[in-house]
Amino acid sequence: MNAAYIQEILKKYWGYDSFRPLQESIIRSVLDGKDTLGLMPTGGGKSITFQVPGLILDGITVVVTPLISLMKDQVDNLKKRRIKAVFYHSGMTAREKRIANEFLLNGNAKFLYISPERLRNVRFLSEVRMLKISLIVVDEAHCISQWGYDFRPAYLNIKSLRKIFPSVPVLALTATATPEVAGDICRQLEMKEPEILRMSFSRSNLRYIVRKTETKIHEIFHILSRTSGSAIVYVRSRKRTREIADYLQAQGIAATFYHANLDYELKEKRQNEWKSGAIRVMVATNAFGMGIDKPDVRVVIHFDLPPSLEEYYQEAGRAGRDGLTSYAVLLISQTDPATLRRKVTEMFPSRDDIRLIYDRVCIFMRLAIGEGYDMLKEFDIDKFCDVFEFQKKKCLAALHILGQAGYVEFLDETEHQSRFMITCTREDLYHVADLTEQAEKVLNCLLRQYTGLFADYVTISEYLITTLTALTDKEVYEALLELARRKIASYIPRNRAPYIYFPTSREDKDLIMIGNRIYEDRKAILTKRIEAMIDYGFDPEGCRENKLLNYFGEKSDHDCGRCDVCLAKKKSQPKDEEVIEKIIAYLQARQYGADIRIMERDLRIEHIQLSRLLSFLCNEGYAIVKDNLYRLL
Ligand code: ADP
Ligand code: MG
Repeated sequence: MNAAYIQEILKKYWGYDSFRPLQESIIRSVLDGKDTLGLMPTGGGKSITFQVPGLILDGITVVVTPLISLMKDQVDNLKKRRIKAVFYHSGMTAREKRIANEFLLNGNAKFLYISPERLRNVRFLSEVRMLKISLIVVDEAHCISQWGYDFRPAYLNIKSLRKIFPSVPVLALTATATPEVAGDICRQLEMKEPEILRMSFSRSNLRYIVRKTETKIHEIFHILSRTSGSAIVYVRSRKRTREIADYLQAQGIAATFYHANLDYELKEKRQNEWKSGAIRVMVATNAFGMGIDKPDVRVVIHFDLPPSLEEYYQEAGRAGRDGLTSYAVLLISQTDPATLRRKVTEMFPSRDDIRLIYDRVCIFMRLAIGEGYDMLKEFDIDKFCDVFEFQKKKCLAALHILGQAGYVEFLDETEHQSRFMITCTREDLYHVADLTEQAEKVLNCLLRQYTGLFADYVTISEYLITTLTALTDKEVYEALLELARRKIASYIPRNRAPYIYFPTSREDKDLIMIGNRIYEDRKAILTKRIEAMIDYGFDPEGCRENKLLNYFGEKSDHDCGRCDVCLAKKKSQPKDEEVIEKIIAYLQARQYGADIRIMERDLRIEHIQLSRLLSFLCNEGYAIVKDNLYRLL
């Protein structure tokens, strides 16, 4: 495969002139048929690394990805480039699955996106077996590792895909892999002699700053009033996103807020306003970010300490994608470490409590012992907690552990947008009589706004329809129901209930096994992650970027020179001229020369500055270095 051809594909479908660092190496490795692990920061351009080879290879590329929303984004994106792609996930209707299947078998689709849960379905696996699969891609591959911060048991099902296609190469991609996680990914995916390609996680235009303050909200204002350009403020509480946005508004800074509980339309609206620059500051929980790629974010402020450096790096890294100087500011206060450490106990309720919650969930779902195998059902967790008087936090933690132990899986990816499809023929549509005025309006609006309504479900936005028709929410909703009632269309209103999945049938609660690997080991891992985060924020000494790089297993032989720690050091550094005078006086007294380490100790000068000035003296012909000893000439 020659380079020009690969480049041509990139230009033809994406319009990009050149590859970003590492993209081409990953693509080559994949085209050479090697199992590959690609480690690239968020926004580095991982998608291209499987989409380009996917187009070149004949056959289908299967992409496993954890979030339905990501899957939709990617498929839409490919379709825009006239590349055929389909997706499969558990939230689809039977009809949607049938259409996808048809398209896959007869429509020459090149990409098949699936959620890992699908791989548990035996029927699905037997269908996949019939396909010509030429590449298996595991996106967000850290989800397969128990050591990762975002382990998803369903990812382990990828092994069955590997079993069906033992000779098809696998490409795993992630932005956040410590050395342990990277090793684990290769092991879990049973990679053969994997090619591990890693990009440096250093971001030369990012300045990492930590500010200690007991009045964080004022500090935010202070920072924003001394900087310009788009900003994100990350907060861990939904309630506080609003408070901070209101405060900033009151101070005359255009700000809005975002969290998972807002309506889809509102989220879209705010995201767009922020993207376009109409609103400068987005105050958000970590629900904001996946898939946003705004190049000119100048500041990312963290109001709270995230629970891991993986998350911090990912969120902070949304600043400065365009390569211009940007700031990642972490605000810390006295009580933060204790708050974060409390999380460990919160995340690990006692084993007895976990068993009890399991039992109550089964009762709530009306499952008898022995029932429930492979069952996926809506699960109203708030009602559940209400009925059995559990604290929601504790309940979520217990469900999480039960998920890892393989008993239930709680799927909190709630949002499915509304979908609409016309079920009669165009001909019939002309003859429909006596619709209400509202239904008529809504139907016309839909026909104008959306294409493909006769062929398949199309995601629609009630919000958009209300805006265009000047009807109220309620009128639009009722009009849509009317169209469905009249058998003109099928309407699936959006749905935000979480699901629960039972990979095995109900067990007696006393037989529930929660092993050390799932309990003690993971507790220790969580503690370690949290301590690393605390160390990042509270250690006044080490270069911030180096702390991040070391955490991700990257060796760095120099400090970044840009973070608050490095800047403080620079400030307190003596002037170069003074140091040079000292060095000369020192060396004059030692005609046989001196070792740099000893000079560093005697003169109390930072290594970086000393070695820089010694090289300068040598280059200018004032000194020489021989056998590691510096001597004046
Ligand atoms: P990741 O998955 O690593 O977070 P994405 O694949 O989503 O990153 O890509 C991030 C952005 O970079 C996308 O908007 C993508 O179109 C853009 N991009 C990727 N590769 C290139 C390239 N070679 N030239 C220009 N833009 C690119
Ligand atoms: Mg990605």
